[in-house]
Amino acid sequence: MTTEIIKCLIIGSGPAGYTAAIYAARAGIKPILYQGSQPGGQLTITSDVENYPGYPKGINGPSMMMDFQAQAERFGADIRDGMVTSVDFNSYPFKVTVDESIDLQAYSVIISTGASAKWLGLPSEQRLNSHGVSACAVCDGFFYRGMEVAVVGAGDTAAEEASYLANLCKKVNLLVRRGEMRASKFMQERVQNLPNVQIWWNTETEEILGEHEVEGVRVRNNKTGEISTIPIKGFFVAIGHQPNTGIFKDFINMDETGYIKTIAGSTKTNIEGVFAAGDAQDNVYRQAVTAAGTGCMAALDAERFLAMKGIH
Ligand code: NDP
Repeated sequence: MTTEIIKCLIIGSGPAGYTAAIYAARAGIKPILYQGSQPGGQLTITSDVENYPGYPKGINGPSMMMDFQAQAERFGADIRDGMVTSVDFNSYPFKVTVDESIDLQAYSVIISTGASAKWLGLPSEQRLNSHGVSACAVCDGFFYRGMEVAVVGAGDTAAEEASYLANLCKKVNLLVRRGEMRASKFMQERVQNLPNVQIWWNTETEEILGEHEVEGVRVRNNKTGEISTIPIKGFFVAIGHQPNTGIFKDFINMDETGYIKTIAGSTKTNIEGVFAAGDAQDNVYRQAVTAAGTGCMAALDAERFLAMKGIH
């Protein structure tokens, strides 16, 4: 069987991947996009998206991703089920395997595999996901304005989420599992000085309470053993994200947590012809609109790369 050769392969299907597909298809470089294990990406586990420009009434995450996909398909992007399971960027065209069984070759690759929020791993957290449990204050905080919420975590993300929520909510309970925070000094001071943020030191989450939506959280002080119940409506998990970049680590330069390093002002990686967009290379902004922006950049970079190589 002959191996399929692709001009522009896009790996991953969130806002970055679909936007790259829209631009690449319109540029005539015939993109093929593999959707991965969570078609549509992290937005498919969000309820309403109200901060994406162009949707004045808001839209739910899964519908928005279906719109993105339909728009890419309208211009001829080939969107396929399947998970890229390994790559070899040392040979050119690049070698790629899908579902451990289909071998492909690609003249350019756009990595838009995103990141996944880390979760505590409690059954109640899973059950109440999108019913009060969220991993994104900017996405979902608005629904809890005037209410009491909790944030778990102690890094910059948790500090940022708690500060953001403090603007909207009556009270924010920040659950910190040790006696100190990992966040930068500036962020720590900022969050500790907010009058409506209570920091619960040495505190671990035992259970999120509520049948159909979050009604409270049961926590335990790991120094004293004291158990407390905090009445809350929203529970925000901010214990870090993991970029989905493991299969590229032998080839692509990354920081110590696995975020892909791109050349400033572009989506170029250390491998010529491989570009990265969206959360796989962004641990600062992590928004649908910024992911879409870098997806557009990656398609333009790929198109220019192919033109320079004389691949038409
Ligand atoms: P981090 O890995 O820095 O922090 C994760 C935090 O979650 C830690 O404080 C950790 O606690 C806590 N945690 C982990 N597991 C659990 C658990 N099971 N229960 C309770 N708490 C838990 O992740 P961040 O997402 O905060 O930051 C990632 C990177 O992105 C950092 O380099 C950060 O500086 C950067 N960043 C920068 C921002 C900015 O510059 N504006 C904004 C956001 C992030 P412990 O400390 O006890 O290990």
